[in-house]
Amino acid sequence: RVKGKWATTRPKHLPTRLALQHFDATYSVQLGQLWPSVRVALLSERKYGALFNNFSNNPDLEKLQAQGCRDFISNREDPTSSEHNSEFGAEEDSSSVSTVRSHIDSQQQSPLWLSPNIKCLVFPRGDITRFKPARPDKFSLLSYYLMDAASVLPCLALAVQKNHTVLDLCAAPGGKALALLQTQSVRFLCVNDSSVSRTSRLKRVLHSYIPKPLLTDDKLRITSFDGTMWGEIERNSFDRVLVDVPCTTDRHSLMEDDNNIFSRSRVGERRSLPQLQVELLLAGIIAACPGGEILYSTCTLSLNQNQGVVEQAIQLAEENHGIQLQVVSLRPLVQKFRNTFHFAPDLHLDESTSHCR
Ligand code: SAM
Repeated sequence: RVKGKWATTRPKHLPTRLALQHFDATYSVQLGQLWPSVRVALLSERKYGALFNNFSNNPDLEKLQAQGCRDFISNREDPTSSEHNSEFGAEEDSSSVSTVRSHIDSQQQSPLWLSPNIKCLVFPRGDITRFKPARPDKFSLLSYYLMDAASVLPCLALAVQKNHTVLDLCAAPGGKALALLQTQSVRFLCVNDSSVSRTSRLKRVLHSYIPKPLLTDDKLRITSFDGTMWGEIERNSFDRVLVDVPCTTDRHSLMEDDNNIFSRSRVGERRSLPQLQVELLLAGIIAACPGGEILYSTCTLSLNQNQGVVEQAIQLAEENHGIQLQVVSLRPLVQKFRNTFHFAPDLHLDESTSHCR
């Protein structure tokens, strides 16, 4: 028996419970009838994808295919075949992406272009087999990197083209940077993360997957700056900028009490997330070159942390920096992968009324 008043170390309100209460209150309103199924999925075991490492010589790709895995990117099914055949989704990985294009004067929608070199293997629908840890080849490079399959979508949406310079502003631990490097189109990649310990992890990840000749100073820069200050370092520089911000990490917040953003000690930090996200996105916009593209992504369903942030950053970029942006529709990407993922309903970032002159 525990005497309540002495049990001071026992948390009265577990962060995971607080997170669930918060999501029940906000997402039931935001998602309406969808919320119960999204809620179940968020509380279920997550399903990984194996980002295939083109630089490794392991025969693991064939082995995984023999086990029934498929590359969901190259094995795109006919999007018209079945609307209700999704494997992952907003409810399983709540990644949310928005692309904005800087300094352009056209409202044309680009055709969807997907790098043929990004491969992500998944077990079939309903199969929750876990991937074995990746093995090193004779050069010590690992054959695949396990991540939420949905996290590959922002990297595809960024549509890196040959010889592009790319900034990954919040890059650790490095899953998306690895996916970007798989395209083999990046001329120069700058990866940054304000956390020194996470930046060390990022370095370890890159060295475990990418051959040394591709990690030289003329091809890669690793920094640990506060990304909100990037405008003071470099402006108008990058063809592509990924702004994968810290957020309430909804799924993680429901699973882990340790280091949880919903713990009482982190209330201030959680409430200031949208402000930090706006500052990071604005810094990313300023770092992009004229005509460049900026991709904003989160792993939360929160409206405040998604389109609220994008709208505010677009407005500030225009008012304070004279930068005009156009929201790029990701509808073609949604169409392509709607048999693999459930996507959230339209985010109402209306590209036809976006901030374009
Ligand atoms: N893109 C990473 C990947 O794919 O592996 C995940 C990034 S995680 C969602 C967000 C990252 O933002 C964290 O690693 C965190 O340390 C970093 N971060 C938080 N505040 C930052 C800031 N002011 N500037 C730069 N990075 C920041």
